[in-house]
Amino acid sequence: MSGPTQTTRVDAAGLLQSVFGYASFRPHQEAIVRHLIAGGDALVLMPTGGGKSLCYQLPALARPGTGIVVSPLIALMQDQVAALKQLGVKAEFLNSSLSLDAARRVENDLLAGRLDLLYVAPERLLTERFLEHLARIRPALFAIDEAHCVSQWGHDFRPEYVQLCILHERFPEVPRIALTATADEPTRKEIAQRLRLEDARHFVTGFDRPNIRYHVRVDEGGAREQLLRFIEERHAGQAGIVYCLSRKKVDEVAAWLNAKGLTALPYHAGMDAAARKQNQTRFLNEDGIVMVATIAFGMGIDKPDVRFVAHLSLPKSLEAYYQETGRAGRDGEPAEAWMRYSLADVILLRQMVDNSEADEAHKRLERRKLDAMLGYCELTTCRRQTLLGYFGDPLPEPCGNCDNCLEPQETWDATEAARKALSCVHRTGQRFGVNYLIDVLLGKDDERMRRFGHDRISTFGIGGELAEREWRAVFRQLVARGYLAVDAEGHGGLALSDTCRPLLKGEESLLLGRQHLETKRKTRKARAGTPAAQVAGDPLFEALRAKRRELAQAQGVPPYVVFADKTLAAMVAERPQSLAEFARLSGVGEAKLERYGEAFLAVIRAAA
Ligand code: ADP
Ligand code: ZN
Repeated sequence: MSGPTQTTRVDAAGLLQSVFGYASFRPHQEAIVRHLIAGGDALVLMPTGGGKSLCYQLPALARPGTGIVVSPLIALMQDQVAALKQLGVKAEFLNSSLSLDAARRVENDLLAGRLDLLYVAPERLLTERFLEHLARIRPALFAIDEAHCVSQWGHDFRPEYVQLCILHERFPEVPRIALTATADEPTRKEIAQRLRLEDARHFVTGFDRPNIRYHVRVDEGGAREQLLRFIEERHAGQAGIVYCLSRKKVDEVAAWLNAKGLTALPYHAGMDAAARKQNQTRFLNEDGIVMVATIAFGMGIDKPDVRFVAHLSLPKSLEAYYQETGRAGRDGEPAEAWMRYSLADVILLRQMVDNSEADEAHKRLERRKLDAMLGYCELTTCRRQTLLGYFGDPLPEPCGNCDNCLEPQETWDATEAARKALSCVHRTGQRFGVNYLIDVLLGKDDERMRRFGHDRISTFGIGGELAEREWRAVFRQLVARGYLAVDAEGHGGLALSDTCRPLLKGEESLLLGRQHLETKRKTRKARAGTPAAQVAGDPLFEALRAKRRELAQAQGVPPYVVFADKTLAAMVAERPQSLAEFARLSGVGEAKLERYGEAFLAVIRAAA
């Protein structure tokens, strides 16, 4: 872009419209952008999809010189640079994926002042050679993306990040901005201290992802069919991720969904690297692909239009759940997080913790995290309030956009039932699993029962007032709340824990939700309300998508960097007839207007 690199005084709103094609800033963006343009340092905590990149991209264009962006993930850099080029911004990256020649060319561009933005891997930035380059040019700003990588306590720790404080020492006059989506208060302090950003202004927007709708149900059999129905009825033709615990299940579910007519691709560590890469590329570059994956998939995936994330088994912690579900709806449009879980998942995860090599303190922590996860699943109140509360960002009012807010669950007093269940565990010697315990409570008189003599104990047959699935819910809840412990040997045997005493003595009570059975009455026909979903299936929308695919393929970039679904949906709604009308659509800046305006107008006219 010829303008901004030379211009010193540019108005931020003007750039937002002319380069990015957006009419207004998202919350906090404007304050951050102005602060940086004026030369201030900033520490930004903003949830995924909040619009962090614009916070440094726009000031880099507004200030003279090249904006230097440190980013730990090669895939993300490539994506961002591809998107910026589409906007007509002169952006490049430097990382190990470039040939020596290509890297030299980028360095020459940098030294000649031809770049608006340069993305660099931290280890590259820290080389003496690169630091000398920086001394010869005039950096517009330094942006440190994924700044939590500096935290030694986090799981994304990158040793090179700690050395990034050198930027401040060598270039004290250049403004810096550190950004992250995942920092709690202690991590935020650590970032500020290690990156020498103590005096930076903090912009904290919280963790909430209001566009994601949470939905959680127990798997009482048929989870796969329910998933299929969920996709067909609410997300037909849209991209999504389905997480499973094991590789075997990934393969099975992907094959099954394919047999049902969806395009589902597997992704797990057991596949060879080339096949995995190919599936990931297809997920990014094609429309409407469902990725079935173990948790290994997702890191470094910045696809903005993932419309749903489904879990067919329980994640091991709320941290993992929030990160995985957070891959939905990065574009800020409505998206759904859907889960089916079972007590068997809990028992399996519990055993994995118990049998791991970790020390006892670590195991205790993992167990607590699993308990919190299960507690979340069994909630009868607003899920978002609990989630955000867990992450230290309380939400005062119920959210109105989770299953429990939208379809409140009835509760029932399960105190008496819980006592019967606990005493049944006690009377049978604290070594049997749920199925057997329920048989005892329901008075199932079989050979095994008689062999153990359990047909003669006081809890035999005292549970007739509840159906089997209700007893399951009681046991699940007792495990979820830690009243019952799962044996470490791996047989699923349940034992009383100390905390169950107040409940047994009647000093505590237990309220349970009557989870809705997955019946027809509950499935709403309407798709999730994205503008794109509302027009999905519209012949014009499909024609625009095909045009987008063609243009993207010709350039070897993902379709969403040409135009977001939302922009295509706006074309369907507005039916612009001229370039002037086309320019008013959200997501159409000057470069895209010039590059693609006529091509899409032709599709719109042909449909009229
Ligand atoms: P983050 O890095 O915080 O996850 P991104 O920077 O990728 O988020 O932005 C998420 C999405 O929001 C992108 O598709 C981006 O183009 C869009 N976006 C950002 N700012 C605005 C804005 N002011 N108006 C409309 N869309 C925006
Ligand atoms: Zn809610």
